[in-house]
Amino acid sequence: MRHIKDVNLKGKRVLLRVDFNVPTDGNGNITDDTRIRKSLPTMQKLIGDGARTILITHLGRPKGEFDEKYSLKNVAKRISEIIGREVIFTQSLLGEEVTDMVNNMKDSDVMLLENIRFYKGETGGDMEFAKELAKLGDAYVNNAFGTVHRNHASVSLLAGLFPNDHYFGFLMEREVENLSYLLGNPKHPFTAIIGGSKISGKIDVLDNLIPKVDNMIIGGGMRYTFTKALGGKIGNSLHEDDKLGVALDLVDKMKKHNVNLYLPIDCIVIDDFRNDANCQLVKGDEIPDGWEAVDCGPKSIELFREVILKSQTILWNGPMGVFEMPNFAKGTFGVARAVAEATQNGAFSVAGGGDSISALQQLDMMDKMSFVSTGGGAMLEFLSGIELPGLKYMK
Ligand code: ADP
Ligand code: MG
Repeated sequence: MRHIKDVNLKGKRVLLRVDFNVPTDGNGNITDDTRIRKSLPTMQKLIGDGARTILITHLGRPKGEFDEKYSLKNVAKRISEIIGREVIFTQSLLGEEVTDMVNNMKDSDVMLLENIRFYKGETGGDMEFAKELAKLGDAYVNNAFGTVHRNHASVSLLAGLFPNDHYFGFLMEREVENLSYLLGNPKHPFTAIIGGSKISGKIDVLDNLIPKVDNMIIGGGMRYTFTKALGGKIGNSLHEDDKLGVALDLVDKMKKHNVNLYLPIDCIVIDDFRNDANCQLVKGDEIPDGWEAVDCGPKSIELFREVILKSQTILWNGPMGVFEMPNFAKGTFGVARAVAEATQNGAFSVAGGGDSISALQQLDMMDKMSFVSTGGGAMLEFLSGIELPGLKYMK
């Protein structure tokens, strides 16, 4: 793995692919600049070495043509504030004007190219487009972990066009290293806690993890597909009827690999999807008709905690209940606290997923995990064990 920390790219024009797809309000104002800050060490390293940094990112989902709404104008301003120096902003990506601007760059200058998704060649994974982009640089650095599962020109193809001059940025390296550890040779017992709304988005992750873990805790909405497949009563709880067979196959595979499967043994059910609906505590597989399960109960939380505290390696993705409603956040928060405690005791923990991160933020526990993956979809695909387009040429 080639890393920018091991090289000095002074004077080189460096195409730095980042994921600055920041959330904005309706008027293009940035509401959270975490994604920009995450790339600060990589930008600082390049600036410090005297490289000429050319930032490439996408924002939103424009349709392959200029769209004011998705312009990076405000992103350029915010980067400038964060790095404390001017950012040269180009109105387009390709063409003579941009080439001239790039040729006029001085050492340590930073440039931001306009939204790469204004070009159809990006999402189309077009090689000709990638070659045009490549002409702007002498080296390529990928720090866009959040996009690494996309077969897009600036994510997957550029690395291949700089066979000897492509590097991992700091964020990218940390993501790949920590997630690879889980799939490689982690310490046992290894416990995966998988929750969230649907099983459909996480089947491949479960499938790939089964041979590697000792314990699998399945909570959140997706567990009711398992419960129903196993013959339990789930009332009105969220489930996917077309995935019952898949759930059974996964249960079989767990048996074959001697994985202990933990589903919530008790749960909170409600009669209406509201925080203040009538609720009751019932057994995990005996949910009455007309009621919907939205959180795990105290016995489950205690059981999960015991399993988590005995683990040396822990992966947590997906809330254990509808934690957005304060009354049904106990399962999710309980798991988060148990993982934090285990980490404190020396276990290695990785958490990830947009909603799981938001739960950790509510608890002010982001720094209580060994590593928090910011990848979202990219993390799930990585954990599925498939070769990701953005890593294909990054050797
Ligand atoms: P992440 O973003 O961490 O990967 P997901 O997106 O897979 O997590 O799932 C998060 C969503 O799952 C949350 O909005 C939460 O309300 C929902 N959820 C969790 N448990 C239940 C449940 N029992 N019924 C319905 N939705 C649930
Ligand atoms: Mg989510």
